[in-house]
Amino acid sequence: MNVFLGTSASKGIGIGKAFVIPETVKRVIPRSKIEESSRDEQWGRFEKSLATVSADISKKMTDSKDNKIQSQLYETYFLMLNDPEFIKELKNAFYSHSLNIEFVLDRQTEKYARHLRSSGNEYLAERAQDICDIFGKVLDDMLDFQPFNIETVPNGVVIVATQLNPSDTIVLSKRKIAGLALTEGGISSHVGILARNYGIPAVFALDNIASQIESGQTVVVDGNNAEVFANPDENSLKEFRKKIEEENSHRLMLEKFRSVEARTKDGEKFSIFANIGTVEEAEIALQEGADGIGLFRTEFLFMSQTNSGRSSLFNEEEQFKAYSTVLKTMQGKPVTIRTLDAGGDKLINSPEIHINEEKNPLMGLRAIRLSLENPMQLKTQLRALYRASVYGNLKIMLPLITQVEQVKKTLEIARTVRNELASEKIPFNPDVPIGIMVETAAAALTADCLAKTSDFFSIGTNDLTQYTIGVDRENASVASLYDEFHLGVLRMIQNTITEAEKAGIEVSVCGEMAGRKTSVLVLAGMGIRNLSMSPKSICEIKELLSKYTVKELKSISSKQLNSL
Ligand code: PEP
Ligand code: MG
Repeated sequence: MNVFLGTSASKGIGIGKAFVIPETVKRVIPRSKIEESSRDEQWGRFEKSLATVSADISKKMTDSKDNKIQSQLYETYFLMLNDPEFIKELKNAFYSHSLNIEFVLDRQTEKYARHLRSSGNEYLAERAQDICDIFGKVLDDMLDFQPFNIETVPNGVVIVATQLNPSDTIVLSKRKIAGLALTEGGISSHVGILARNYGIPAVFALDNIASQIESGQTVVVDGNNAEVFANPDENSLKEFRKKIEEENSHRLMLEKFRSVEARTKDGEKFSIFANIGTVEEAEIALQEGADGIGLFRTEFLFMSQTNSGRSSLFNEEEQFKAYSTVLKTMQGKPVTIRTLDAGGDKLINSPEIHINEEKNPLMGLRAIRLSLENPMQLKTQLRALYRASVYGNLKIMLPLITQVEQVKKTLEIARTVRNELASEKIPFNPDVPIGIMVETAAAALTADCLAKTSDFFSIGTNDLTQYTIGVDRENASVASLYDEFHLGVLRMIQNTITEAEKAGIEVSVCGEMAGRKTSVLVLAGMGIRNLSMSPKSICEIKELLSKYTVKELKSISSKQLNSL
């Protein structure tokens, strides 16, 4: 039996066969000068690959005839592949230069996509990514490049990989994965958050794990002790199975907290909300006894959509359906929906939102900055949100605010949206509160100014910690420096609470600190009464709070604040 030590990212024990995900390799397009005499041979190769991909798409079109959305997508692909205009232009471009066909094809595809993106027509802009996708398949065939397809992962396996992106994790959650063993990722990374939300045991920061375990080996992921075991003997397996049973009965015991209010030993009430990333998780939140949704990360919704073969973003109608379903599910309980927090590690591959490669994406065009650069997308999202507002108790939240100006600009767009809906006689709630995430030092230290334009604050401790200490939350090699109890972080939180109280606006915490047993006591002692966490942590946190008095909580936090 081999033992690997890492960092726990999601508790629980999982046993399964290893599925080792190969390193993702990007398609590299070669560029070379070619002789005139080899042109026909190169063009012939292109035509052969075009025919192969066309035949494949045509088969998929027939196979998916019962799924309207998929078959329409394949039909679009098929028509694009066989568009005589595009082929004619490509041939002209190829025969008038002395460059290899792969390079010319890639360049022509990008040129066409750019043209569609800038057409100003929503339908055509949506086709831009489709054209890149489909001619990308032709290029893959010509280059004999086989990209890894996450959809091929079987049910019940333990995923072993160097790294995983959040959208792949969403796909994997549907495969009932037994565990995750990764080299990269910190405990507040989005993959870690998703693993906890879906109850997948996970251990990260495992050096070279993908080259030390082979697919098919039996693997145990012990998220409680941050250990991974390969090829365990029968006795060890028996022990692990016993522990899994014990955990299951502990979870059953905690279930009684689903229906009780969160209160301290001396009766102080807390509101415990859930963080969700998909519409379906609202059901889980309700089942687990959440007082509402404290954070709906809408970008995960968009990421799973673009991952399932569709390139365009959810349109207004689809967003409206998703938001109103969550609001209806929560039966009048508060539901805080955050506008798109894309960028950084949460990449969305869509023609509506073009995210350029950035040298330092976490400091780059992400979250509200990206939305304000793409006001049409923000407007569509706000329209869908306002339209859904009549189905429940909605609050809108803006991510990564650093300036009052960003809030004002968004409020202006929200006002336009309300005016439009009113003139279209579409019902909506005009009084939906609009609040902000406090997740940068700039926001925490200017909380007094931001409180004047914000209806509420929600402290995003994941980003607040990363930006305050200057430690990438996704990077396993600096994970030991990622310290949510750093006095700098605690003072930011303290200042935000003080200013929110002064301004009389609600303040909550929706970062991972809110759902961790160690940190929640400190937050509660500092005065936080609204906590938002993974639905799976709700009962555990309710039980924990019931064991302390307010005085005890205050003493825990003051010790922490004076620990340096
Ligand atoms: C945070 O930064 O704490 C937060 C809740 O947002 P996200 O984890 O989605 O960045
Ligand atoms: Mg954040």
